[in-house]
Amino acid sequence: MKTVLLNPGPVNVSERVRAALHLPDLCHREVEYGSLQDDVRALLLGVFHLDPSEWAAVLLTGSGTAALEAAVSSCVPPGGRLLVVRNGVYGERIAEMARAHRIDTDTLDSDWTAPPDLGRLETALEHGRFDTLALVHHETTTGLLNPVAPAASLARRHRARVIVDSISGLGGEPLAFGDLDAVAGTANKCLQGLPGVSFVIVRRPHLAGIGAWPPRSVYLHLPTHARAQDEHTTAFTPAVPAMSAFRAALQELEEEGAERRASRFAHRSQALRDVMEDEGLRLLLPAPLRSNTITAVVLPSSWRYAALHDRLKERGFVVYAGQGPLAERIFRIAVMGAVTNEEYDRFSAAFRTVARDLGRPS
Ligand SMILES: *Cc1c(COP(=O)(O)O)cnc(C)c1O
Repeated sequence: MKTVLLNPGPVNVSERVRAALHLPDLCHREVEYGSLQDDVRALLLGVFHLDPSEWAAVLLTGSGTAALEAAVSSCVPPGGRLLVVRNGVYGERIAEMARAHRIDTDTLDSDWTAPPDLGRLETALEHGRFDTLALVHHETTTGLLNPVAPAASLARRHRARVIVDSISGLGGEPLAFGDLDAVAGTANKCLQGLPGVSFVIVRRPHLAGIGAWPPRSVYLHLPTHARAQDEHTTAFTPAVPAMSAFRAALQELEEEGAERRASRFAHRSQALRDVMEDEGLRLLLPAPLRSNTITAVVLPSSWRYAALHDRLKERGFVVYAGQGPLAERIFRIAVMGAVTNEEYDRFSAAFRTVARDLGRPS
């Protein structure tokens, strides 16, 4: 029986994506791989309506973290200063990466259930001489959407470049690329591919600029990958089968349309939220902050997460725990991946049964 994954990646994939894994053995220096790679790069820009003369999709083999670390380590100038918006596990991780690369870094902190204060952000940008701002689009920790567009426009006004972690956002949430310079994403969340491939979508003039700076990393230096990929080859050995599966996943997204997919996720999440509230559960975030894909639910004090998880798993559904300080306080339900309406309906029914077994929260 299919296990329905309600965790925020890796997600269930379609049969078409899975079938694309079975390709003939292929040398990554041959034209066949070059054309697969060209297809994936073009599809990535196409599905987000980006002009290829202005933007480049740079592919990496590795999880989303590899793409994000490539963006952070490549996009801040030598001796430059970085400001990181920190209101969840993933904002924390950006700051950790920057410090690992000895980048002079400051953070703008807010509560994990609140967006950053734009007035404080503006003050920080005004006084901090930052070259770069980095923030998470969709904080997977809580399902919170950060105000990327207004934050990026403030950064632009203060001549700071903008790096966005949209690893769990792209394909699930609309994103205005207007004031952004680099956006990190992965194949295996809302884009519905398999793990192993990630990418950074970079503004071409910025890419040309950073190509003149000394690299902070050999494997994660974006210009190295971009140069090779622009020549239809690859700097290092890529995950060929995962790349083939990613092409199929992007073709599916192109057929469905990113906007339509996002609204499909939004409707499904709303239906699940209604079920949770109907069962007496409380959602962690107020409605305006919630993403289309992740619902963080407060774990009733009379429930144990492990019991909830295990009983749902016996019925074929995998839900997700909280992270960090929220580990004991919440559980999460992600709507992403190739899951049918019928499967979501079966999940809702199974959830109601398990919730009643565990006892209605008071
Ligand atoms: C999943 C996720 C990551 C890490 O991605 P991996 O593929 O696990 O390396 C980073 N940032 C956000 C916002 C995520 O949701």
